Amino acid sequence: MNHSERLFSKAQRYIPGGVNSPVRAFRGVEGTPLFIRSGKGAYITDVDGKHYVDYVGSWGPLIVGHAHPYVIKAVKKVITSGVSFGAPTEIEVKLAERICHLMPSIELIRFVNSGTEAVMSAIRLARGYTCRQKIIKFSACYHGHTDSMLVAAGSGGLTFGIPNSAGVPESVALHTLVAEYNCLDSVKALFEKVGDDVAAVIVEPVAGNMNCVLPKAGFLSGLRKLCDTYGSVLIFDEVITGFRVALGGAQTYYDVKPDITILGKIIGGGFPVGAFGGTKDIMECIAPLGPVYQAGTLSGNPVAMTAGLATLDLVSEAGFYPRLEARLQILINGLGELAKQYGLPFFATQVVGMFGLYFTENDTVETEADVKTVDVALFKRFFHAMLKEGIYLAPSAFESGFISSVHGEKEINQTLQAAERVFRSLASMR
Ligand SMILES: *Cc1c(COP(=O)(O)O)cnc(C)c1O
Repeated sequence: MNHSERLFSKAQRYIPGGVNSPVRAFRGVEGTPLFIRSGKGAYITDVDGKHYVDYVGSWGPLIVGHAHPYVIKAVKKVITSGVSFGAPTEIEVKLAERICHLMPSIELIRFVNSGTEAVMSAIRLARGYTCRQKIIKFSACYHGHTDSMLVAAGSGGLTFGIPNSAGVPESVALHTLVAEYNCLDSVKALFEKVGDDVAAVIVEPVAGNMNCVLPKAGFLSGLRKLCDTYGSVLIFDEVITGFRVALGGAQTYYDVKPDITILGKIIGGGFPVGAFGGTKDIMECIAPLGPVYQAGTLSGNPVAMTAGLATLDLVSEAGFYPRLEARLQILINGLGELAKQYGLPFFATQVVGMFGLYFTENDTVETEADVKTVDVALFKRFFHAMLKEGIYLAPSAFESGFISSVHGEKEINQTLQAAERVFRSLASMR
């Protein structure tokens, strides 16, 4: 047994499944999760001392890499002055001001402690603002684990939702309507049925929780139009895409303005954080200004705010996103060429700093059904072989990958050389 295996077996005695978030348990790829000892730049080191090029980046927040000196210096400085006060601090105003300037649709913003919490609050806000009950979400889009969002498309899914977790009351789930990502007609059909009771449409502008699926041209703007027609609130869940695909998020990249934006991950620089923001009109419904209640003991925590602000300083540097995009493009193109060379069924997507790898015969991936064509067994073999080569990818065939600004030529080359050996061996086994 190595040290990770020993720790995992001990963890399972005290923590359900040995983990504090299910995908970490490696159930999607089998085997034992790595326990991580440290991270520096593009690399993580596990408790057995092995180094890996990291393409998870704590599931997105670490866009400037692990333990970036600028971020760590800022955090160290603030942490010695006390870590929480339950009272306003200057740093949260600075981060709020910065985000309002950078995100076109945000006039007022409130900070919370996770993406889940931000979604939960934004949905309550949309309902309070519109005095309506129903929420339209998309099948296989993830918005955290609040009750009303743990609903996927079942067979009856196109009308009334069926919860996909135990413990979600039917009376809650029935207010969640499920549409098909990249299919405007499925949204229109719901609006035609119950449009006058739709409080909000919530969408990941780039679907980053069913691998990485890009919005088709006209999809996001079509949602905007439908929401305007029916007087519903359009919510972009930019927990992943915010500051990942552009300084102004996916709303800038695709030029569609939501009414409410959900943020998380990058704006905490690796610390627990979430936020929701939008137009004054809507945001003024929140307590203490309005009747929609929302609160948080640790919200706007100075350490998290500091790490977030430092990270935003770094991504605001000229040329940050074009560099990130170009670097990742070399990797994605390289993988595509290698797969072709070895005759493996392979397709990849990229939006600036995020990507999706698919072992599929499809030459496009636009819908959940397309995503499901992937050869999961082949992905598992690929994942474990890459891990052995020192490349740490998300332990599931259905997650996005993330690159950081400190993934350099060296790391990309190392990854492509590993992929060449792995693809060659996978091809010989087929
Ligand atoms: C990660 C994620 C969330 C949930 O954020 P947590 O901080 O894990 O609660 C919500 N929406 C999207 C799109 C996410 O990727």
